[in-house]
Amino acid sequence: MKHRKQLKEASRIVEKYCIIKGEKFRLKDYDPADTNGVKSKQHAENILERRIGLLSDMQEKLYAQDRWALLLIFQAMDAAGKDGAIKHVMSGVNPQGCDVHAFKAPSNEELDHDYLWRTHKCIPSRGKIGIFNRSYYEEVLVVRVHTTFLRAQKLPDDLISKHIWDQRFEDINAFERYLTRNGVVVRKFFLHVSRKEQKKRFLERLEDSKKNWKFSMADVQERAFWKDYQGAYEEMIQRTATKHAPWYVIPADNKWFTRLAVASAIIEALNGLNLAFPDVDKAKKKELEAVRASLLAQKD
Ligand code: ATP
Ligand code: MG
Repeated sequence: MKHRKQLKEASRIVEKYCIIKGEKFRLKDYDPADTNGVKSKQHAENILERRIGLLSDMQEKLYAQDRWALLLIFQAMDAAGKDGAIKHVMSGVNPQGCDVHAFKAPSNEELDHDYLWRTHKCIPSRGKIGIFNRSYYEEVLVVRVHTTFLRAQKLPDDLISKHIWDQRFEDINAFERYLTRNGVVVRKFFLHVSRKEQKKRFLERLEDSKKNWKFSMADVQERAFWKDYQGAYEEMIQRTATKHAPWYVIPADNKWFTRLAVASAIIEALNGLNLAFPDVDKAKKKELEAVRASLLAQKD
């Protein structure tokens, strides 16, 4: 097992951020600046390069085997680094085996359907890795913080009660269990950035002309609801962290550490699937040998 050491190290790096049972989860117990013993950016980048190599090998097998699918969900406050994490971690993966979907405020057509509709259509097919940049979890985050969004969903009045968030947690858990039972492995990432670091990143977007395009007024407005969002994230994790679909609460104040931790978690998820190139049976091998001989016998 030539990758055994790397797999063990990957497990060690993410273990403490993995939540499989939410009851006792408290966001305040997780430090956004933690780097779990990794001392420098340079060191993290060196390890990340090896992780990306391994991830690429594993993805090839996932694709060839065509049995499992992997769904990676990313949620975070603005400027926590979702886009950068996705870009770096997936940089070694064959684009044909990977789909990324971003979920923004729902369109009119989407509002005419149940809230899982738009995401269910994008669940990765067998052999593929699907990435959700935001997801149905917005339904218990932004929609919970701003209940005007809930009113815009055109639900019949009778169905909106004080139990609606409990019902959403229950339905999301059931949906993820259903996916799991169908061979879709679900892993969820909350990139946990501090309020102070978010301010710093917003200021960079305002001050650096190359980053101006990333600045959005809406992001600063949402910052005013910081406490509400932190509360909503905490409860979301408490209610939807499960063994089959765990949440990873990834420290996001150092982007280099975020990327390393996310890559490590993905490797760990794939490692649990016993991936291997499909076996070719005896008859098929004989057939391949015959074709090879015939090709070799040709003049050019
Ligand atoms: P980036 O800013 O990096 O391009 P982003 O994911 O922040 O990426 P934006 O277009 O800035 O993209 O924001 C998308 C917005 O859509 C977010 O504020 C998010 O909360 C909102 N959104 C997503 N899903 C829903 C939903 N179901 N109802 C209402 N708003 C939603
Ligand atoms: Mg944004």
